[in-house]
Amino acid sequence: MDGHVTTIFWLCRDFRVADNTALVAALKNGPIAPVFLIDKMLMEQGAASRWRLQRALAAFDADLRRRCGHGVLILRGEAEDELPKLARRISASAVHVTDWPCPQMRRVQDQARKALGDVPLLLHMGHLLIHPRMVHTKTGGAYKVYTPFARAVREAGPDQPIAAPRRIEIAPDLPQGEVLDNLNLAPDMRSGAAVLERHALDPGEAAALARLDDFLSHAKGYGEDRDRLDRPATSGLSEALAVGEISPRTIWAISMRRIQAGDTAADDARKFLSEVLWREFAWHLLIEFPQMDHRPWREEWSRFPWKSHGAGLDAWTQARTGIPAVDAGQREMRVTGRMHNRVRMITASYLTKHLMIDWKQGLRHFQDSLTDWDPASNAMNWQWVAGSGPDASPFFRIFNPVTQAQKFDPDATYLKRWLAGYRGSKSPDAKDYFDTLPRDWQVPSAYAAGDDAQELADRRQAALEAYAKMRD
Ligand SMILES: Cc1cc2nc3c(=O)[nH]c(=O)nc-3n(C[C@H](O)[C@H](O)[C@H](O)COP(=O)(O)OP(=O)(O)OC[C@H]3O[C@@H](n4cnc5c(N)ncnc54)[C@H](O)[C@@H]3O)c2cc1C
Repeated sequence: MDGHVTTIFWLCRDFRVADNTALVAALKNGPIAPVFLIDKMLMEQGAASRWRLQRALAAFDADLRRRCGHGVLILRGEAEDELPKLARRISASAVHVTDWPCPQMRRVQDQARKALGDVPLLLHMGHLLIHPRMVHTKTGGAYKVYTPFARAVREAGPDQPIAAPRRIEIAPDLPQGEVLDNLNLAPDMRSGAAVLERHALDPGEAAALARLDDFLSHAKGYGEDRDRLDRPATSGLSEALAVGEISPRTIWAISMRRIQAGDTAADDARKFLSEVLWREFAWHLLIEFPQMDHRPWREEWSRFPWKSHGAGLDAWTQARTGIPAVDAGQREMRVTGRMHNRVRMITASYLTKHLMIDWKQGLRHFQDSLTDWDPASNAMNWQWVAGSGPDASPFFRIFNPVTQAQKFDPDATYLKRWLAGYRGSKSPDAKDYFDTLPRDWQVPSAYAAGDDAQELADRRQAALEAYAKMRD
């Protein structure tokens, strides 16, 4: 060990060994202390994503033990207190961390940097495909429209992923941390956790790579079928990306290699990469406008007469609006922590346009309920649907949740899967929803609602009038 210095590898949203620049940099000079912090920021994030993060942590810990016989040191406390304490105890020369460039994390990093004093806090790229300063408009600003942004990233070429370290050496004499098996990072999930467990996707880096491999092997048809509610056409990789079990650069490099080798359906795989670029766009927007989760990108939207609470919001969150596609999506999310992208758009549009409820209420509900919660994608998409985002769906384009379901779920396969009693459905998944309910919700045990075309039309008209007034 002589001549070696110890460094801290601070694990945040990068539960992987491949393409982990922070891990590789930390290992350069000697052994590392791999540390994960249970801090206020983590406990303030939504319950479902905390629950998912604990699964990522457990999978990474097991992988680390297999590789080097030691697991992750889990400490409870704030970065500004715990990192300097640990640095002093093991005489660490630096702290390396993969940057998670959201405003909450920026605050934590700033406080930690100050408290660490002479021990530098070194941020590494790993959550994005490309550094934001590599993609900018001719005048040097950030892109606000997706298409030219995506073109610019493709032209600049995302960075190549780096290999996993061959050997991981852990610093001796680390303090005793929290016991992984005793952690309960999402106590507020209540009965939901047991149900989610039954529907969970496998966590961990190996599972994410296998998922990508499987997706690319069956990518044919993705371009058309990704909108179909009744066909499992998408990759299911958003959770793994959210906790960094796989990096976007790895996804890009593997997909391009297979496109070039003719080993996947090229057009569909390219379409998939263009979706990965939507995630990238969201992050570049969030870096440009850190208030994106609580302020409309377009200022004029502060004047829109949003309603912020009431019976409509409760019915929407509790999946009893009576609109099948909206309720089915909410039930899917309550049972699995996931919701099909098209249904996210339908439910979000219904909340913001038919009910005229503030998009921030929807954003918070999704933040608490999605296992793939991602601060940038969630905020950008809510503002996109509401109409207030930089590259947004125009407000007057109001999804009709009934015709959307007819178009993308023509045999009502999705609706029957998630709505018990809907057209005689006895689906076991639909029944699982009732296992997650608090007693006071009073949801009917059979789904008996019909489509209310007149009510939808009236609400649509009211929303359009409010929009016209705002513009005047
Ligand atoms: C209101 C609303 C809220 C959303 N909140 C989130 C969120 O919190 N976290 C999240 O990861 N996604 C969010 N999305 C985007 C999208 O619904 C999910 O990324 C997608 O459903 C994930 O499924 P998949 O991995 O099978 O996607 P695939 O179709 O396989 O796409 C591949 C990857 O591309 C990215 N992607 C796809 N669509 C989008 C999109 N519209 N915006 C940004 N990235 C995209 C994701 O990283 C995804 O894993 C939201 C969409 C809406 C309309």
